[in-house]
Amino acid sequence: MLASALSFAVAGIDAIPVRVEAYVAHDDIHPAFVIVGLPDASVREARERVRSGLRGAQQRCPSRVIVNLAPANVRKVGAGFDLAIALAILAAAGDVPAESLAGVAVLGEIGLDGSVRPVAGALVAAEMARRLGLEGVLCAHESSAEVALVDGVTPIPCAAIEHAVNYLRCGVIRPWTAAAPALPGPALPDLADVRGQPLARRALEIAAAGGHNLLLVGPPGVGKSMLARRLPGVLPPLTADQSLEVTRLHSVAGLLPAGGGLVTARPFRAPHHSASAAALIGGGPQLRPGEIALAAHGVLFLDELPEFRRDALEALRGPVEDGVLTVARASGSVTYPCRTSLVAAMNPCPCGGGPACACSDERVRAYRRKVSGPLLDRMDLGVRLVRPEAEVLRADRPEASAAVAGRVRGAAERQAARGSGSNAHLPPAAVAATCSLDADGEALLRRAIDRLALSPRGVDRCLRVARTIADLAGAERVAGDHLAEALSLRLGSVA
Ligand SMILES: [Zn+2]
Repeated sequence: MLASALSFAVAGIDAIPVRVEAYVAHDDIHPAFVIVGLPDASVREARERVRSGLRGAQQRCPSRVIVNLAPANVRKVGAGFDLAIALAILAAAGDVPAESLAGVAVLGEIGLDGSVRPVAGALVAAEMARRLGLEGVLCAHESSAEVALVDGVTPIPCAAIEHAVNYLRCGVIRPWTAAAPALPGPALPDLADVRGQPLARRALEIAAAGGHNLLLVGPPGVGKSMLARRLPGVLPPLTADQSLEVTRLHSVAGLLPAGGGLVTARPFRAPHHSASAAALIGGGPQLRPGEIALAAHGVLFLDELPEFRRDALEALRGPVEDGVLTVARASGSVTYPCRTSLVAAMNPCPCGGGPACACSDERVRAYRRKVSGPLLDRMDLGVRLVRPEAEVLRADRPEASAAVAGRVRGAAERQAARGSGSNAHLPPAAVAATCSLDADGEALLRRAIDRLALSPRGVDRCLRVARTIADLAGAERVAGDHLAEALSLRLGSVA
């Protein structure tokens, strides 16, 4: 009369085990279907899906059902508990052996016809199943590739409730096939297409090599967005751990393609400037990771930066700096990794800054003020792009992405060999030791601090960029010309 199945709630990029207990009775005089244990509305709707799904699967649903989701203090959201509820009911009614549910976890939404559908977070659920010593996860066919990423946990794919019942009665596991390995998607756009912008290309290469943030300022059509879209193509390949982290983030956001497994391409996210703070940072009733977390280990591109909502840009500041995003909610807070390369683009003035520009200084200042100073302060590199002469455009034969990517990889390997992480995220305490200057550099830095009134934070940012420039050059110490280039690429040069 009482049985249970194990399922999971997703919190951040972790899964929390949730025990689904079902008590059933055949009592036509007092019929009921009650779900307790902090379910939200979407979980309470499981009653309708489970009842109808069981009928569709030719299984009886007892007339009196009480379901408890434990622990009660974890908020349960979404349809992911449907299959566990249905199987716990069948086990409590004696229609499947209760002990057959002991070694497995259960994950899946149920359709009214009894079909089983994929839910977000299958990968993190499977990782928790392994920690709990479970051998298998009953899940939708489409979730199997995610579960299979976790060594030692077997996906038990179910296209319908019957398949789960057959497994629990006789141990039949239906074969499944991962979606064909992602076809080599559309080739990434190549830097060879960007002509006549040598300075911006150089800044992009430095940004890629050290993980620095980049601001591109220029009139429409000058190639700002073209450049940003070519950044993923010059970043080094994802490491195995990074791939898994990107896959977790996209799994809990429900963004993996059906049947998809490991994500191996660097993400590129370009939210529209109308995006809310919640869309950029994450949140909402389902506690979804926002754009900055979905761009982790990839590129977050903010085109038309001054058009973004002020509160949205303010909300980005901390996560951009820390590489970690904390979303606080009444039900507790969750964190997401969000280390990303931030590329922002803006016009030099409200009209776009074409040759016919007649904007007053006051209007231009007001336009720039829309971008919060503290966020601008976090842009390590800034470039002013101008429309090249037709002759320059014709003559320019720029390098392809592959050549740039080779130098970037070399610089990334030098950073990895030092063991201090990427230059952009060197902790302040490590900057002086890692970015030690030669005599020329020291002299230049002293002059720059005096003349440019650099703040200590600004000095650190320049030193980190200079370290990356030295790494690209294969230099042991940071020399005067490395620092000079870093200073020239400081934001001040575009203001
Ligand atoms: Zn203008």
